[in-house]
Amino acid sequence: MSLVIQKFGGTSLATHESRERVVLRIEEATKKYDQVVVVVSAMGRLGAPYATDTLLSLLETDGRHVDDREMDMLIACGEIITTVVLSNALGNKGMKAQALTGGQSGIRTSSHFLEAHVDHVDTTRIKSILAQGNIPVVAGFQGMDAQGDTTTLGRGGSDTSAALMGEALSADVIEIFTDVDGIMTADPIVCKTAKLINHISYNELFQMADGGAKVIHPRAVEVARRSGIPLMIKNTFSDAVGTTISHFNYIEKPITVNERIITSIAHRSGRIQFLVEGDIDDEIFFNDLAAQNVSIDIINIFLGRRVFTTESTNKDKTIKLIEAYDVSFSYIDNCCKITVVGEKMTGVPGVMAKIISSLSKVKVQILQTADSLSTIACLIHDKDLEMAVFALHETFGLHDTIE
Ligand code: ADP
Ligand code: ASP
Ligand code: MG
Repeated sequence: MSLVIQKFGGTSLATHESRERVVLRIEEATKKYDQVVVVVSAMGRLGAPYATDTLLSLLETDGRHVDDREMDMLIACGEIITTVVLSNALGNKGMKAQALTGGQSGIRTSSHFLEAHVDHVDTTRIKSILAQGNIPVVAGFQGMDAQGDTTTLGRGGSDTSAALMGEALSADVIEIFTDVDGIMTADPIVCKTAKLINHISYNELFQMADGGAKVIHPRAVEVARRSGIPLMIKNTFSDAVGTTISHFNYIEKPITVNERIITSIAHRSGRIQFLVEGDIDDEIFFNDLAAQNVSIDIINIFLGRRVFTTESTNKDKTIKLIEAYDVSFSYIDNCCKITVVGEKMTGVPGVMAKIISSLSKVKVQILQTADSLSTIACLIHDKDLEMAVFALHETFGLHDTIE
């Protein structure tokens, strides 16, 4: 029995016309595979009536903390509404479908509301729906904890739901449908010359997603990588071939001149950098930050001095925490992290030098850097984002069409 998971993102489901395209994609899949499982996001983006951000904006808090459990109950509604609307649209075209919440689909999670971890997927119900020849339409982004409470998997989490369903059902392929032709060399909104990448490794895609390329959630890539199920990113609205993701192993393969060292550039906005100076116990200080759920991104520690980056949304609580210490501090708000990704850069000298000279040529100030085996990240001012991505894109030859 061949089985495909098809996941449709918010923009693919926003209007009646776009949902007609989705129905067509599902119909095509029923002709190609024996079984089809559909995973959906909430319809549209902020402003659309049932989009996740619109639901969030319903809460009037007056600065009061909203219970995370109740927040999850609210934001999970967007996906649930989509399942019924799409199941109905499939029915209108003569396809038998059944709408399911995350919990009904067997997605069992921790009780860590807003960022729940999936413990396991109980496939009993989905398998029985498939056995009856029906198409399960699963609400992405959500699951159910041991108490029966609704949980969500973190923003962008419908991709993760699709990957988990694929793994649990041993799917032949997981198709992620979105509003771009596939994985591009940079976010096409920021870099107009971004090019489609036809093949990329799980590892490189993970690094891109982790670096902020929101085209797919990093946890979805992780799940697909561990199960080895091929992942495809496709455009709901075009017939572009899309991007196929599989295991590549560059480490064992010698690099030839024509192969790219750098494959893409990702970015993540909404960062703030703190500089804290004074004689304090770093272990206690960073544990305090962790206890406040302030997750640190780039970090450098020197004698009596530490520089770290976090999400701008953590600004107030971080300042409050630092003020409790006998230290001086400053911060730079409105920063952005750009990450240059390339599995083949391991051991290749001069990549950092190229980045520095490319950014200094266009007068982009680098505030902090970090690197791993396959990435180099630079913190810059938000205002320099487009210029920096364009410059690096050109420096590493990503403007050229990939064969
Ligand atoms: P969906 O609603 O389908 O889940 P998202 O908005 O979450 O869609 O993700 C798709 C968006 O990701 C695209 O519109 C694009 O702007 C953005 N994006 C960021 N980086 C990349 C990249 N490297 N390749 C393709 N798209 C990217
Ligand atoms: N609707 C959720 C969000 O906007 C999940 C998703 O789209 O993947 O984050
Ligand atoms: Mg998404």
